[in-house]
Amino acid sequence: MANEHGNLSINSQNIFPIIKKWMYSDHDIFYRELISNGCDAITKLKKLSLIGEYEAPDDIEYKLDVKVSPKNKTIKIIDNGIGMTKDEVNEYINQIAFSGAEAFLEKYKDKTNEDQIIGHFGLGFYSAFMVADKVTIDTLSFQKDATAVHWECDGGTEYDMKDSDKQNVGTEITLYLNEDSYEFANEYKAREVIEKYCSFMPIPIFLTNEDEEPKTEEIPEEEVTEKDTVIETFIKEAETEEVEKEDGTKETVEKTPAKKMAKIVKRPVPLNDIHPLWTKHPNECSDEDYKEFYRNVFHDYKEPLFWIHLNMDYPFNLKGILYFPKINTEYETIEGTIKLYNNQVFVADNIKEVIPEFLLLLKGVIDCPDLPLNVSRSALQNDGFVKKISEYITKKVGDKLTGMYKTQKESYEKYWDDINPFIKFGCLKDEKFAEKMNDYIIFKNIDGKYLTLKECLEENKEHHENTVFYVTDETEQSQYINMFKEAGIDAVILTHNIDQPFITHLESKNEGVKFARIDADLSDSFKEETSEDELKEISETLTETFKKALGKDNLNVKVEKLKNASISSMITLSEQDRRMQDMMKMYNMYGMDPSMFGANSQTLVLNANNELVKYIAEHKDGENTTLMCEQLYDLAMLSHAPLTPEQMTNFIARSNKIMELLAK
Ligand code: ADP
Ligand code: MG
Repeated sequence: MANEHGNLSINSQNIFPIIKKWMYSDHDIFYRELISNGCDAITKLKKLSLIGEYEAPDDIEYKLDVKVSPKNKTIKIIDNGIGMTKDEVNEYINQIAFSGAEAFLEKYKDKTNEDQIIGHFGLGFYSAFMVADKVTIDTLSFQKDATAVHWECDGGTEYDMKDSDKQNVGTEITLYLNEDSYEFANEYKAREVIEKYCSFMPIPIFLTNEDEEPKTEEIPEEEVTEKDTVIETFIKEAETEEVEKEDGTKETVEKTPAKKMAKIVKRPVPLNDIHPLWTKHPNECSDEDYKEFYRNVFHDYKEPLFWIHLNMDYPFNLKGILYFPKINTEYETIEGTIKLYNNQVFVADNIKEVIPEFLLLLKGVIDCPDLPLNVSRSALQNDGFVKKISEYITKKVGDKLTGMYKTQKESYEKYWDDINPFIKFGCLKDEKFAEKMNDYIIFKNIDGKYLTLKECLEENKEHHENTVFYVTDETEQSQYINMFKEAGIDAVILTHNIDQPFITHLESKNEGVKFARIDADLSDSFKEETSEDELKEISETLTETFKKALGKDNLNVKVEKLKNASISSMITLSEQDRRMQDMMKMYNMYGMDPSMFGANSQTLVLNANNELVKYIAEHKDGENTTLMCEQLYDLAMLSHAPLTPEQMTNFIARSNKIMELLAK
């Protein structure tokens, strides 16, 4: 062909300066784009060969070679795929897919630097110019009598085309890196980037460093195959060992016999797994396969609890595996990763527009070839199809959980502590999911049994209609827990951050149902029946005495006859006020002191059946009465919330003093 020189037809503006600036932090995606083009080209050729339109050489081994040369600062990406004719280079490369370019420019105007879906704009090839000053293509089409084409362009709007001496079908792209991008020719960098984006591409990818002598390995000669390049053969001498005989003399014996060996060029190992687990049928995958895949992909050495293998062909194509990770402590923040793939090509992590937010707490891979990734993210968010995908995934997760509750309740309970924050978050975020899970939310009670909400209400029916008591801190609230246990009243344990918003949600969903922290109020079940009059006098005396002793004029005091006489005092705090306080703390609202709200809603409950309380009432002006009041108050506070450092110091000093008094 005659040498050709031409102008890249790009609408008005020159796209290169934009491409070069584009996605500053994600320059490495050129690897993904060029390698996936090569894989596409091979996949196309394989199809043609399947339907008999192309006769491949017998020994063909479809693969993609990436060759880096740090010395020359070049990267070559070589495929043995379909190749391009001159006309095709013209059409696909020179007349940069208009629609793609336009969509891209349109998008760029909105300036969304962090948009990772880029590259699906049909401009993938040109991403090469983010890192290269000059790019060449050598390509030979599979078509009969095609001539090979050489194309080159130095990043301006002009290109040159001429004959190439390429002999075999396929395409070789060479990047002459720009000054800022030399690192991409580094073998380790290249490996890292390719593993990031191409780990599961469907064609084997090999990486070599052209500057280095090929690595070698030694194998037994009988294992050499036609494909191996033998450098030399040699005899490996027998290995011997000295052993002691029964009579004490030593003898040399042969441990391994002499062997014929061959030194060969190291057999190439592809960087990727062309059949990732999610592409297989669930029946073909063992538990160990799932666990190994999890370890490899997420580098999490804690075993996942369980997983869901998504496998859908109709009405859309979607495959993937979602893992429920093990959470070690309740304090560890749960942060998952959902990796999104498009036909085994990595797109990005955690794309909120496609994957429901609460599922991002899981770990998993989702491959959806039908995703319209060539649109902007905001368009994705409003895309009906994407919504369906997201609903489907949510439904599958719900099905798995409810199914497990129904058929493997024991496992469900075993996993509950780990999975409940996820489920609760899901219920808060997703109406449909909440509906589905409604009957499958369980609560661990203070006896370690798991109950549904219905069962919880049933348990407490005789004591408290429609109230579920809960514990937020088993240590702090142990006194209350013991009281509840003695009185045969149930309470559930809700210690996670998500539990507060979640119970508010449950209250709004289940009319009449109330949640109250175990120290919110004293149930009648703890008290003896008394008449108001009976306690009137002692109430007045004690209130006055305590107010004076503690110097708290606005102290709320309530005197009760508690069945358990050993309890002297305790604090109750109204549920509503406490929730308000918690909320203030959480948001640190306006820098206000949270105790300003409802500080006064704490009530000091004194037990008129307790000997010490009786004693105080009878000796309100006694020598040590103030001391006792202070101590009783602190004891009540202690079993309610931690003391402040100052309170603690006083408490310890006072305790010592009391011991001294005792000793005397
Ligand atoms: P897209 O891959 O989205 O179509 P690209 O800019 O990456 O956009 O590639 C444009 C076109 O150039 C491809 O659709 C394909 O026809 C052709 N092409 C690119 N790379 C190769 C290759 N290695 N082998 C054959 N054709 C290629
Ligand atoms: Mg492409």
